[in-house]
This record gives sequence, structure tokens and C-alpha cells, in this order.
Amino acid sequence: MTDSSFVATTDLLGQSIRELETLFAGWGEKPFRARQLMQWVHQRGSVDFASMSSLAASLRARLAEQVRGPLPRVVRDHVAADFTRKWLFDVGAHNAIETVFIPERARGTLCVSTQVGCAVGCGFCSTGAQGFNRNLSTGEIVAQVWLARALLCSSESASPLRLRAASMHHRYPAPALACNAASAAAPASAAAAACTATAPALDRLRSEPPAHPLALEQAPAEEESESGKAISNVVFMGMGEPLQNYEATLGALRILLSDLAYGLSRRRVTVSTSGVVPMIDRLAGDCPVALAVSLHAPHDDLRSRLVPLNQKYPIAQLLAACRRYLRASPRDFITFEYTMIAGVNDSLAQAQALRDLLCSVPSKVNLIPFNPIAGSAFRRSTTQQIRSFAEVLLAAGITATIRKTRGDDIAAACGQLAGSVQDRTSRTVRMHRAAGRSPQAVSTW
Ligand code: SAH
Ligand code: SF4
Repeated sequence: MTDSSFVATTDLLGQSIRELETLFAGWGEKPFRARQLMQWVHQRGSVDFASMSSLAASLRARLAEQVRGPLPRVVRDHVAADFTRKWLFDVGAHNAIETVFIPERARGTLCVSTQVGCAVGCGFCSTGAQGFNRNLSTGEIVAQVWLARALLCSSESASPLRLRAASMHHRYPAPALACNAASAAAPASAAAAACTATAPALDRLRSEPPAHPLALEQAPAEEESESGKAISNVVFMGMGEPLQNYEATLGALRILLSDLAYGLSRRRVTVSTSGVVPMIDRLAGDCPVALAVSLHAPHDDLRSRLVPLNQKYPIAQLLAACRRYLRASPRDFITFEYTMIAGVNDSLAQAQALRDLLCSVPSKVNLIPFNPIAGSAFRRSTTQQIRSFAEVLLAAGITATIRKTRGDDIAAACGQLAGSVQDRTSRTVRMHRAAGRSPQAVSTW
């Protein structure tokens, strides 16, 4: 942000407190004014400078003059029967990114994108199939949270869908992240106009969602304590590889954690990576949050085919980085994502190999039923096969969860990850391993 040229509103959302203080110092303003602006923008959800009553009129006028331009536009806004909500945001030049909100009984998880496309090119991922287009800026990543909250808040007051959802999810009380007078202002209502909550979704709200056949338990009680936020958790599991857009991701993480902005705990923010080893180490030093690693195979030859980045950073290096990360991590385990693809990585021998591999890293394994994508010959593993695979891990004392697919009726998810990104934040299916040894503590995001 410079004094001489105007600043895009989206970039304002990506400004750290230090950057705002520097700008304000150049304007002869005191540092606490920067803190006030940060709170207006992120906590009260306002970019309407005229309404920022605690700022001097001259500063408001200067901000209104120098900060301009639209936030990402809502291209689509869909709500699934299970309340999963997916937005498509226009980030210019015909580029769209996906952001998904997954409400649950005691938490609400927002899945954000970090890139338009992805260069890693995993063969089972539709984002990878798009190729890499560009990195998102810190402001564009934070804008997904800002907009999602505004849209959730505006539909909470306006939409029968949201009201019904709130009554169904009785342990999911009024949001604190944060619906208030300012956030219900103009940008939110403009965006809400694009809402296309579907009739089937509204119809299906009249009945309770069916329990997942594999569901053995409800969400852990731990999640109760910090409930009460519309967006209580943020996961970097949308389009793109966050650790290949490191600086922008880091900037966004810091704003999400800042008490002047969203104030999320490190445990409630998760970065998912396909395994960019040097950046895992940097993240541990710069801003340790919960870490998820997309593993998908227990051997290098198969993983290199599924996740080409493995050729550069093979499994042994990746697991060593995970062990180092745990020294700084807010969680005492690494989450390993394992997309279950029939006949490719779902045999019991592969489960045993995975079990042996993960003995060296405190782990939680999320088994994700593969979500078929256009043009792919891969198929989803059967439920029975996924169950048997999980049992091998559970019997060795490794916590394994199977994700329930959500948002099916909106063909949804970040980067067409309906089988994973949404599932990872859905009600977690916990399976107890065989009697004799206690399962490892289960934590969820
Ligand atoms: N690039 C990061 C984060 C985004 S992908 C990463 O790879 O971790 C988020 C998750 O969705 C990853 O675990 C990825 O392997 C998984 N995924 C991608 N496409 C999928 C599909 N078609 N079915 C199931 N999971 C998928
Ligand atoms: Fe990129 Fe993740 Fe998709 Fe692989 S799974 S192509 S790393 S977004």
C-alpha cells in the first residue's frame, strides 16, 4: 500500500498490522488507528469507511479516497441438502476460485483456495487437471473468509435455509466470527443477491439428515468448547497447493490468527500440503498451525505416480519433515490424507505398508473415498474395502477416520474435491480399533 496510488480493497484485506501502521505513520496517524482499522475491517466486517465512527473524519475521507475497487464477485452460491455451501468467486481475468463452508453440530469449517489451478498435477484431482494459472494474493485468500462470513451472516438473517439449519444443528449456536451491524452492511447484501439456494435443498431441510452408515460416534466433545462461531475453523484445502504459494499463505495465516482480525486458534487452522518439504520446515518456524499431508500411497513408486511432487520429495524426506514439524505444531499428530482409489492404493497389503510407515510419526489417517472426476479412469473404493483398510490401521493403534461425502447435490467442493475437502470437515467417522489397546486421542479440526 503506498501513499501515492490507490489501494485495491482486496489488498486492504491482506495488510498486516505492521503494514497498516507503516502506511498510517506516513499519513501522520498514530499506530492505534491502524489497529482500529484492522478491527473494523476484519472483526466488524466493514469496508465502508464512512461508517467507521471511531476514526477521525479526515482519516475516513482519506481511506475512502485511496482504497477502492471491488472485492471478488460472487459468481455462484449454492447450498447443498446437508447445508454445505459452495461459492465460486471471480478473481478477475475469467478466473474463478472455490470456497466451501461446511456447517456441523459444533463447528463451521471454511475451506479456502490458495491458487487458481495447481502445478503439482495429481492425476486424481480436477484442480491439478486444470494446470497452474496463478497464485492468489494474501488479500484474495483472506477475502474468502471475509466474504463467506458476510454471506453467512446476511443469509442467517434473511434465509429460511439458514434459520432451519440453525435449529437442526442445535449445538451450533449463533456465530461469533462475527455477525454484527457492520457485517450485514452493503457488501454482504450485494453478494447475497447472488444466492441460489436450491429448491431441493430447501425441501430436504424438512427432514433430518440420515446418519452415515459408518458413523459410530458424533463429533468429539472437545469441539463444544469453542463452538458458537459461524466460521470456527479454516482449512487450506481448496484449489491449489498452499506451500507453493508460501508468502501469501503465510500472510493469510497471520491475519486469521491475529487478535485484531479473526483471532482463530492455531489448532483450528489447517494447512494441507502434497509435501513441499522445505516449506513444511519454514511453516514450522514462521507460523505453525495444524498440518495435513496428502500421502495417498505407502510406497514411492505409486506415490510418485499419484502425486508427482513425490519425485522431488520422496516419502522418507516427507515423513522426516513431519517429525520435525511436530516439535512446533499446535497438534501432537500429523493428519495424513489418503484418498481411496479402487485397485490402486486400497489393498490390505498397502494398508499394512501404511501402518508400518506411520509407526514413526504420531498420526491420524483420514481415508477419503475418491471423488470421481471427469475423464479419469479411477474409481472409488468400496465401503467394505475402506472399512477393512481402516481396521488394519486401527488394530495397530493408529487413529483412522473415514469421511462422509457431503455436498453431493451441488457437485461441490474446493477444486471438485467433493470426496475429500468437504468430507474432511464433515462429521468425522471414528472407528475403534480392536480391543486391547486404547485408540490414540482423536482430535478434529
Ligand atoms: N494441494 C493441497 C490442498 C488441496 S487438495 C493438497 O494436496 O493437500 C485437498 C485434498 O483433496 C488433498 O488431500 C487431495 O489429495 C484431495 N483430493 C483431490 N482430488 C480428490 C478427489 N478427486 N477425490 C478425493 N480426494 C481428492
Ligand atoms: Fe494440487 Fe492438491 Fe490437487 Fe494435488 S491434490 S493437484 S497438490 S490441489
